Amino acid sequence: MPAIAERMVSASSPLFSFELLPPLKGNSVYRVYSIVDKLREFDPAYINITSHHSEAIYVPQPDGSHRRTTIRRRPGTVAIAAAIQNRYGIPAVPHIICKGFSKDETEYALLDLNFLGITNLLLLRGDSKSVDTMIQDPEKYHRYATDLQRQVNDFNRGIGIDGTPIEGIETPFCYGMACYPEKHEEAPNLAFDLRTAKMKVDGGARYLVTQMFFDNEKYFEFVTRCREAGITVPIIPGIKPITKAHQMTVLPRVFHIDIPEAFSNELMKCQTDAAAAACGVEWCVAQCRELIERGVPGIHFYTHYASDSVREVAKAIY
Ligand code: FAD
Repeated sequence: MPAIAERMVSASSPLFSFELLPPLKGNSVYRVYSIVDKLREFDPAYINITSHHSEAIYVPQPDGSHRRTTIRRRPGTVAIAAAIQNRYGIPAVPHIICKGFSKDETEYALLDLNFLGITNLLLLRGDSKSVDTMIQDPEKYHRYATDLQRQVNDFNRGIGIDGTPIEGIETPFCYGMACYPEKHEEAPNLAFDLRTAKMKVDGGARYLVTQMFFDNEKYFEFVTRCREAGITVPIIPGIKPITKAHQMTVLPRVFHIDIPEAFSNELMKCQTDAAAAACGVEWCVAQCRELIERGVPGIHFYTHYASDSVREVAKAIY
């Protein structure tokens, strides 16, 4: 499979790509295929598959106490990536995260991916929430995405986590990493976050993918600042159509992003979910048209609870 970073710089028109979640534990893989089937006519250049660490839960006991245990609600990232790449012949981009995954587990995943012929990755720290309560021994776990990046770079050079050689890496992993036009929630300021983005690129990230945003100006300003900071790789906008009015308060809380006033005013007028979804598609189409006019290398869609809307948007712009 080609390195998707090369397609980003050589494509004559903006690439279409999207992100999928593995099915909830116990659900069929056909749920995932149904989303790909819905969107494949728009010629996706690649499909990302998210990764999810285990969460701590407390199970009520007959004596009234609670037993702490862990569950992984969405296992199967590597397997779903392989299934999609084999079934559709579209490059799959599994997300590799360091929260909740030890360095050893990461190495096993990289070995599996190498055997499976999956050569594109997105490297991330992972959501920190519930896993933060677990003890993450720094000897066994990475702290930041850039620490994970060093492991992948070593792997690409044929060096395992304990320094032993790894043979048979014909195609090194091509990887992208995350960036945040509205600043990562934990970064003290945007300048700090830009330094993080620069470290990622200097360390070998071939492209960056943004957190979702609804105000294109924030993306354009961010790209300008990245270029001033010497970041020259493609910066792929991550876009999500809003499908329900209540998302205008949920998304800012979860993702630390703003909803522009003009958009929230329109969403406030929606009396039904269908009206909110139509409003979300309209906003998203306008956003994408402007991004394309201004020359973005591609648009990456977040499809979670939004695949029908993504289809509507893709129909309008591709
Ligand atoms: P990092 O780059 O490690 O940054 C985290 C914070 O630490 C930032 O504030 C940064 O400025 C700071 N920082 C970074 N390096 C250093 C350093 N060396 N010293 C001091 N501070 C530092 N989450 C999942 O769990 N699974 C997914 O599949 C997933 N997919 C995603 C896809 C995209 C495109 C995006 C944008 C996010 C995704 N996330 C996913 C969420 C992501 O894991 C969270 O946003 C997470 O909180 C940060 O990830 P990161 O890779 O940007 O972390």
